[in-house]
Amino acid sequence: MAALPTFSSQLVLSVVAPVYNEAAGITAFVETALHTLKSMGVGYELILVNDGSRDNSLAIMQELASQHSNVRVLELSRNYGREIAMTAGLDAAIGDYAVIMDSDLQDPPQLIPAMLQKLLTDQLDVVYAARTSRLGESWLKINSSRLFYWLAAQASGLKIPDNAGDFRVFSRRALNAVNAMKEHNRYLKMLYAYAGFRVGFVSFDRAARLTGESSYNYQKLIDAALDAIFAFSTKPLRWMSLLSVGISGLLLAYAVGVVINKLQGAQMVEGWASLMLMMSLMFSLMFLFLGLMSEYLGRILTESKNRPLYFVREEFGSSHFVAPPMVETSTPTAPKKHQSKARNHA
Ligand code: UDP
Ligand code: MG
Repeated sequence: MAALPTFSSQLVLSVVAPVYNEAAGITAFVETALHTLKSMGVGYELILVNDGSRDNSLAIMQELASQHSNVRVLELSRNYGREIAMTAGLDAAIGDYAVIMDSDLQDPPQLIPAMLQKLLTDQLDVVYAARTSRLGESWLKINSSRLFYWLAAQASGLKIPDNAGDFRVFSRRALNAVNAMKEHNRYLKMLYAYAGFRVGFVSFDRAARLTGESSYNYQKLIDAALDAIFAFSTKPLRWMSLLSVGISGLLLAYAVGVVINKLQGAQMVEGWASLMLMMSLMFSLMFLFLGLMSEYLGRILTESKNRPLYFVREEFGSSHFVAPPMVETSTPTAPKKHQSKARNHA
């Protein structure tokens, strides 16, 4: 193995991981992540966001936070879904650089040094982990997500690499840009693409999940695809208006033709078929347009309410961070518990 890159000890790295029902694997994840972070010789914090887990993930994480001073646990008020859980963690991160990754060890923490090094040496703002293989994922899952990325790119005009997950490291300015976007119809990979900046990648083989179950399902994929299209692009509205103008022009011409025919004393025959054809065509378009309109309308409604994206129930192990970087200490004493001071994450 190549020698570990050296980093400035002044540098502070925040690692954020959302957690939902990961009781079986969370300890292994935290240990692996801490092992890697310690070996890097930088200041660090590991932020675990409990996204309303129904198993005993929270108790395990509280225990871990009490054992390791650099582990913070953010407990959300309920299950918000992974995008919002990641958002909450990224908002809470205090580092100069931040990593976002899954907590099921499918994203290997060992890759973090290489990613950070690439970001620093190539002077990038974002380095994502590109999956060269995706073990334990079905043909259908891989190809439906490919189709999704293609669609999303077509609609939004943004380039989203289809081999990238969320696992990535950000500079503070890229992170601030992502954090500044507070929309509810949230799909972080699209927001990363929207934020832009100088982006690079490091390749890795994505392992299968070791424990627990993937919460992935096709309904979620469809929801994400609709969001990616309707929350990031107004193109369907444009198509709709162009088509409407075209069709109303044709209808007008048709009406004029009918009148001229009548005036010329033409024999008007039954014409039932053409009437039905026209009606069905019109109605099918009307319903299509109504559907498209409702997609936008619903999104405008959620955004206009402007609610906070999430609520934090409690925070554990939060450090009152003092520079220079924290040194890992083991505290066998009672668990630290800091009530979050009515943090407003809106
Ligand atoms: N996750 C979450 N909230 C949810 C579902 C998942 O925070 O409602 C977390 C989960 O704990 C994991 C990450 O999101 O760390 C990825 O989830 P999963 O492994 O189910 O997705 P996949 O890797 O199969 O795409
Ligand atoms: Mg996973």
